[in-house]
Amino acid sequence: MSNDVEPRPKLGISSCLLGNEVRYDGGHKHNAYIRRTLGEYFDFIPFCPEVAIGLSTPRPPIRLVDDGESVRVLGTEDSSLDYTDKLSGYGDRVSGSMDDYCGYIVKKDSPSCGMERVKIYQGKKEAPPVRRGSGAYTAALMASRPELPVEEEGRLMDPGLRENFVIRVFTLFRWRCMVKEGLTPGSLVEFHTRHKFLIQAHHEATYRQLGPMVARAGSEDLDALAPEYLVCLMQGLRHVTTPGKQANVLMHIMGFIKNQMTPEDKTEMLDLIEMHQSGLVPVIVPITLMNHFLRRYPHEYIEKQYFLEPHPRELMLRNHI
Ligand code: SF4
Repeated sequence: MSNDVEPRPKLGISSCLLGNEVRYDGGHKHNAYIRRTLGEYFDFIPFCPEVAIGLSTPRPPIRLVDDGESVRVLGTEDSSLDYTDKLSGYGDRVSGSMDDYCGYIVKKDSPSCGMERVKIYQGKKEAPPVRRGSGAYTAALMASRPELPVEEEGRLMDPGLRENFVIRVFTLFRWRCMVKEGLTPGSLVEFHTRHKFLIQAHHEATYRQLGPMVARAGSEDLDALAPEYLVCLMQGLRHVTTPGKQANVLMHIMGFIKNQMTPEDKTEMLDLIEMHQSGLVPVIVPITLMNHFLRRYPHEYIEKQYFLEPHPRELMLRNHI
């Protein structure tokens, strides 16, 4: 009997989101959807940067402050305590060991972990805080790992952003698996080919950028080309898809089997694509019908497209967009 366990995407996560009591007030911010639902498919590795740099639990709160020259992470009660460099340095160090990570979920609003729109206080001024900061730890992590999908737990409650994040995680997971088996010009071309419609459904310009890169695969140093390709791909997938873009891709796919489809098949397919564009049905409806036609009229190139199933269907992410 084999003891092999199916590999799963490994993700970093703000420790408090898993229910660990590491927050400044001694509490946690357990997120049931992340832990129970996403936890079925991902292996989470928890990090608490504030504890990791030596702060106690509980501890006095900290916040982002614009001192006029830069944004610092300072003690709220004692502003002579500056944790900026320690938190950034920890982010740099941790990111160095994330070659096999496929994503990271961070706690919103935190001066250490927040990704965006974290409150920045205005030094000694009485002005209200502005929401345009990033946590010091996460900012360092994202700068060091531009290929890594990072998302906040609050934004994950939005169906479109959630689907986008999970697509990026599984795309990076497929990339990591491919690289583990040995990257070759042929495997890069195959990877790119199978992601063609998925990329187009997110950002056509990125697809046009990636094509010439892949064409250089046989003649250039792959070790230099691969990271360039990966960052461009992962940044492109950050563009959230729309019903219009999905309709374009579905019509394009239909073009490959249109000669086998009956006039009734085509009408049925076009009706559902239009209903999705009008907001009457989620995208899973026309995609399910397309998969039905692909079973009836098999097409090897199309069947391999990750656009048709980019993540486990049990997550039901396309039932809400
Ligand atoms: S530093 Fe991050 S992981 Fe730690 S308690 Fe704050 S938000 Fe949670």
